[in-house]
Amino acid sequence: MPSRKFADGEVVMGRWPGSVLYYEVQVTSYDDVAHLYTVKYKDGTELALKESDIRSQSSFKHRKSQSSSSSPSRRSSSRSRSRSRSPGRPAKGRRRSASQSREHKEDKKKTIQETSLALPVLVLFKPSENNTKRYNGEPESTEKNATSCIILEQKLKPDLEIKRVLEQYSLRSRKDDKKKEEIYSEKKTFAAVKPIEKVPTKTKELEFGGRIGTFMLILLLPATVFYLLLMCKQEDPSLLNFPPLPAVESLWDGRVFGVILLWFFLQAVFYLLPIGKVVEGLPLSSGRKLQYRINGFYAFILTAAAVGVLLYFQFELHYLYDHLMQFAVSAAAFSLALSIYLYARSLKAPEEELAPGGNSGYFIYDFFTGHELNPRVGSFDLKYFCELRPGLIGWVVINLAMLLAEMKIHNLSMPSLSMILVNSFQLLYVVDALWNEEAVLTTMDITHDGFGFMLAFGDLVWVPFVYSLQAFYLVGHPTTITWPVAAAITVLNCIGYYIFRSANSQKNNFRRNPADPKLANLKFIPTATGKGLLVTGWWGFVRHPNYLGDIIMALAWSLPCGFNHILPYFYVIYFICLLVHREARDEHHCKQKYGLAWERYCQRVPYRIFPYIY
Ligand code: NDP
Repeated sequence: MPSRKFADGEVVMGRWPGSVLYYEVQVTSYDDVAHLYTVKYKDGTELALKESDIRSQSSFKHRKSQSSSSSPSRRSSSRSRSRSRSPGRPAKGRRRSASQSREHKEDKKKTIQETSLALPVLVLFKPSENNTKRYNGEPESTEKNATSCIILEQKLKPDLEIKRVLEQYSLRSRKDDKKKEEIYSEKKTFAAVKPIEKVPTKTKELEFGGRIGTFMLILLLPATVFYLLLMCKQEDPSLLNFPPLPAVESLWDGRVFGVILLWFFLQAVFYLLPIGKVVEGLPLSSGRKLQYRINGFYAFILTAAAVGVLLYFQFELHYLYDHLMQFAVSAAAFSLALSIYLYARSLKAPEEELAPGGNSGYFIYDFFTGHELNPRVGSFDLKYFCELRPGLIGWVVINLAMLLAEMKIHNLSMPSLSMILVNSFQLLYVVDALWNEEAVLTTMDITHDGFGFMLAFGDLVWVPFVYSLQAFYLVGHPTTITWPVAAAITVLNCIGYYIFRSANSQKNNFRRNPADPKLANLKFIPTATGKGLLVTGWWGFVRHPNYLGDIIMALAWSLPCGFNHILPYFYVIYFICLLVHREARDEHHCKQKYGLAWERYCQRVPYRIFPYIY
């Protein structure tokens, strides 16, 4: 018996998940393990479908060519010719005359054509009695365009369906149209039936340069951290002034590793404290929603209190400055061990719990990108924990250590203005992230990327040790700035922060509650998944306004270090590259998720990050 019914490249009719609509699709691949077909809709959307949701085109054509007398429309016409509905009698209820009906149909046809959004409607058929097998279609000329076709089963009335399809593809104001808003509501439409995220299947499109690229990154990322830290300690950190390599044994210090373990343990205890609300994340591909405790800000306050106590008892925090390289090595060792554990446990994880982007079957690729989406030990979510706590709070502690080291080394009664700016700006960023912790649940890291080396190393090593580079640099390379310059940099940081925060909040609030009255003035493009795409407000300005704000802030963090060296600008240069690449990845995922609606969004909002530039 063949294991699959449809071949790659075959054009078939695919059911839109959670609905009764069949669209023309092309089979692009088949997953033998999950028994799922990946199909591509004409608008570009890609989904994984079960065999039972796919039918051959010929089965539809066959039904269409059956005797016209058995057409439901004709059957209804013939019923209308019965005595009880004789033309001599006045029309009952909502029944229309033939000419009204024709006009009505013409109107609908016109509206569909006017909605030149390439509606994937070719033939809008009348409902069958029980299922599509018994379907007989209307003449093709009734409602048609040149792309694809929808076949309705009995549950949907054609009128309603036309209305619903139009609503899905038309742009409307949420303020003006409460009724339509209800139809849009994630709870009431498709999403209520089943979230239409792609069902996890084998990852075919490899990112980050595939296996070779990810292998190189596993080597390059730690090397870059060590290079940057070594450079920063140099008196002349010019690019060509390559630092001498330290002795390998000097890189490891058991006590430092103990401090790292203690740090993780402390943060894990704070994470487990039963304080703060518990919220649900976005629906997974299985429809399940995970619960998350929001207490990152409390963890920060408790950490600040603990550091305060240490300082009160004269603990020399600049120990961190003296041993920064050993701390980085210990954190890297820890993140590597964690990544190995994550990969090992992911091998036993059920298919539906794997990350959509980290299931290629290639060890090195899946190890890097993360094989399992939400690895948990009981209710302890490892990815969510690492995302905002040990690394992010650790970054602030390192910054503070640099500030104290600067005062001690240069015998200052007060930190330099540059150091104050860098510390305050970055403190604001971290406090903001923890205060708005819930917003992380709608980011790519949580919803799309698995937990592997990329995020483990990124969260636990890259963030605390590379993002604190400006403060580290300032200890060894004092930079004086004037008050007006400091004021100008502060204004720049505030502008960046304002864009970053309001854009992120706008999207997060909209995703969580599209009917939020605070967002009533915003317009959006509805998509077939039930989610909307904002086209006014920040998300109508550029397609990633939050990245724009983040980049402006990154520049403001580097400027207090002056212009003597490029080293403190490493962060802003790297960050632009990261976000440009991230934007391209997100764009690709959104194109797959939203198809045509995404293209419309891109037409309406042509710039990705920088208005009129990119
Ligand atoms: P975003 O928060 O930008 O989320 C992207 C998602 O938003 C898309 O996948 C889509 O998801 C949704 N979306 C896109 N366009 C619209 C629209 N018009 N209307 C409504 N929803 C839309 O992704 P990131 O996770 O990359 O970034 C989160 C924040 O983290 C950003 O501020 C970024 O700057 C910051 N960041 C910081 C880093 C750092 O190291 N400091 C690193 C990476 C990010 P869907 O439709 O499925 O909801």
